[in-house]
Amino acid sequence: GDAITVSDLAQKLALKGGDVVKALFKMGVMATVTQSIDHDTAVLVVEELGHKAVRPSDSDAETELLAQVEDAGQQGELAQRPPVVTIMGHVDHGKTSLLDYIRRTKVATGEAGGITQHIGAYHVKTAKGTISFLDTPGHAAFTSMRSRGAKLTDIVVLVVAADDGVMPQTIEAVQHARAAKVPLIIAINKMDKSDADPMRVKNELLAQEVVAEDFGGETQMVELSAKSGQGVDELLDAILLQSEVLELKAVPDGRASGTVIESALDKGRGPVATVLVQRGILRKGDYLVCGVQYGRVRALFNETGEQVAEAGPSIPVQVLGLSGVPDAGDDFVVVADERLAKDVAQQREAKRRESRLIKQAGNRMEDVMAQM
Ligand code: GDP
Ligand code: MG
Repeated sequence: GDAITVSDLAQKLALKGGDVVKALFKMGVMATVTQSIDHDTAVLVVEELGHKAVRPSDSDAETELLAQVEDAGQQGELAQRPPVVTIMGHVDHGKTSLLDYIRRTKVATGEAGGITQHIGAYHVKTAKGTISFLDTPGHAAFTSMRSRGAKLTDIVVLVVAADDGVMPQTIEAVQHARAAKVPLIIAINKMDKSDADPMRVKNELLAQEVVAEDFGGETQMVELSAKSGQGVDELLDAILLQSEVLELKAVPDGRASGTVIESALDKGRGPVATVLVQRGILRKGDYLVCGVQYGRVRALFNETGEQVAEAGPSIPVQVLGLSGVPDAGDDFVVVADERLAKDVAQQREAKRRESRLIKQAGNRMEDVMAQM
């Protein structure tokens, strides 16, 4: 099992490191706070301390899962994939308007449809290529992405209103993108307004070391209006140009894996998750593990509410058939059979329950100590 340092364990139990060291000593184990103890010893010392620790299930299923994922990764050749774009910007600078304009005018709706659904992401097909947009609030998507170390977003479109200029959340977005090493494209919005001043925006961005191409820098800046749509095609071109530079690639066949963007419990349809496929092809009938949930894909829907048979890299799709509602940011992986999917999900759930119990035990212990 996993090793844990004495100080980490003490922290989990909300105890002083010294108290855990003393308890270990009583058990005949000599360890300082900085030393690691193995899992079995940790369980014993927690019991010694008056907690009831649950033994974790072994991680055979996770090991098997990893082997399957690695196997799948060996197969197939890398191919170009569409960019995944997140829109960020200061409040009221036009993020929602821009996403809505693109969705309304560029998402290919089917014969029956005509109405796009809000599923947390959508993709557009242009003559020059496909682009996926994450439709979740930019900052939230970015934060959860960063905390998980997963890289969901390839390009950030930073919306700056031409009549308002660089504002605090503009600067924050620049810093987020920089920290995550994700390139920026600037959408200078509200160009239809009489007081629009794109030069001011470029100058203020220069002060943040975001340098426009016409200033000798490398950041594409597109003047547009999310209201009239003027300039939006140029923005899509700029995204595809940036995407070419990034040489975004994924293996477009084999079992799929990716990330949950949004999830909900639907009254009629049960757990519904919108996932972004990041490698492979997700198909109807596939078995998958998704966070602590598992299931078999009963149906896949695109952003216009149409059923689709499959989804490849960078394409968002709604999944029906999971055992429960996963969390946004959870990974999903397609596995060969239902047994493994179920084993992994159940072991993860047990692990989650265990750490909750240890935490609760720690809290109880703390109460007891406080009364002594
Ligand atoms: P968000 O907070 O960044 O999502 O901004 P919204 O998309 O909600 O837009 C804030 C306000 O600016 C709304 O009243 C929009 O109608 C307006 N707006 C957005 N884009 C434009 C534009 O290109 N031109 C004009 N004139 N107004 C815009
Ligand atoms: Mg908005």
